[in-house]
Amino acid sequence: MHVWKFGGTSVGKPERMHSIRNLVTGDSTRKIIVLSALSGTTNALLSIAESLKANQVDEAAEKVEHLKAHYDSFVRELYKTSEGLAKGQQIIENEFSFIRSLVRIRPFTLKQDKELVAEGELLSTQMFQAYLDEQGEKSVLLPALEFMRIDADGEPELDVIEQKLREVLKPHIDKQLIVTQGFICRNPRGEVDNLKRGGSDYTASLVGGAIRAEEIQIWTDIDGMHNNDPRIVKNTFPIRELTFDEAAELAYFGAKILHPSTITPAKMRGVPVRLKNTIDPQAPGTLIADKVTETGTVFKAVAAKDNITALYIHSTRMLNAYGFLRRIFEIFEKYKTPVDMLATSEVSVSVTIDNTDNLAAIQAELGQFCDLEEPDYDQSIVCIVGNFSADHPGIALRVLKAMEGIPIRMISYGGTENNISLLILGKHKAEALNALNEGLF
Ligand code: ADP
Ligand code: ASP
Ligand code: MG
Repeated sequence: MHVWKFGGTSVGKPERMHSIRNLVTGDSTRKIIVLSALSGTTNALLSIAESLKANQVDEAAEKVEHLKAHYDSFVRELYKTSEGLAKGQQIIENEFSFIRSLVRIRPFTLKQDKELVAEGELLSTQMFQAYLDEQGEKSVLLPALEFMRIDADGEPELDVIEQKLREVLKPHIDKQLIVTQGFICRNPRGEVDNLKRGGSDYTASLVGGAIRAEEIQIWTDIDGMHNNDPRIVKNTFPIRELTFDEAAELAYFGAKILHPSTITPAKMRGVPVRLKNTIDPQAPGTLIADKVTETGTVFKAVAAKDNITALYIHSTRMLNAYGFLRRIFEIFEKYKTPVDMLATSEVSVSVTIDNTDNLAAIQAELGQFCDLEEPDYDQSIVCIVGNFSADHPGIALRVLKAMEGIPIRMISYGGTENNISLLILGKHKAEALNALNEGLF
């Protein structure tokens, strides 16, 4: 069985939905089809939520009607028969009557916020499955809220997902196409929740891992993982193969084509992930697997992650302060704040964090046994991925040479053999990505 995920642009126009029907029925593999919301919908729903949080109820109601008009015209082009259209209109009426009811509820809580933003995937999947029905394709809609679970820390529970999926799939052994929602899940309180922005990729990988699929395919608007950010750098090119570890580094450090955690479940269960282009299905895309056939390339790709904060921590005790690192990291652990980069000298440590929700508390606790400098905000981590064997001379030199003229605050080299990370001021990111493209590829 395969898991195929289609992102927002791949379902964002009626003709795109027509082509993905052709894609999913183009071969005989049984598939779980994970869909995102139509492009623009999640942003629109979040903007409605913003208006409601600001008590701008009329503004929110106007935005709801504007969004509904988009869906009204979408279904007129999606369906080919009057029965199909009536079904599509019914789906829209049902979901929008729920959305309108959320607009009226006061106060607007986080629970309602999550229910509102889930509507994008609930709409797209019902519309697409009704289209498959209209076209006589044997399919079923499997509600993700019945099997996608996160724990109290917002982390997916793969074993629970596996067990629940097994149960809900049982009655559908005869179905070739199983449609479900990306992104949405339930939390331990049983409420609707989600896997954060871009989370449909993560759903696909969790589902693929849970059923031990033969392959997970992520269909998007570009022909695979490129060697650099195509939104910022010209002349980027697709990479044919990546290892799980290489792809995980790129996703975590900012390659937007994949949600940062996508690779973990696939890697855990050994399921290959293929990135494909809906607009050019013949393009080979990128295969992500345990091993690659081509191992000679030194520099494979570059990505960057924004909004990084750097903390500078000095020991107040003098030399040989063993136990110092442990005490520091216990504090980050206590506040569930991952550290991305680290540099040490004998009595000082610099670290970077992405999540600053608990920064003040972390600073207060560190301040009890350390001197702290003022943090640096708005930094970017530039991550360079490749084969950086310790026996291979000149690798760091090439990176630093390419970066000549751009100030570097921190360097991390040797954490693994496939990553070099640099911390720079966020405003230098575009310049750095372009300079590395020139110098490394
Ligand atoms: P979807 O809606 O299908 O999930 P996304 O917009 O989330 O699609 O991801 C695809 C986009 O990621 C591409 O259009 C591209 O602009 C961007 N992107 C950023 N970095 C990379 C990269 N290294 N390789 C490919 N695409 C990238
Ligand atoms: N619709 C969600 C978002 O826009 C999830 C996704 O597209 O992957 O973030
Ligand atoms: Mg995405």
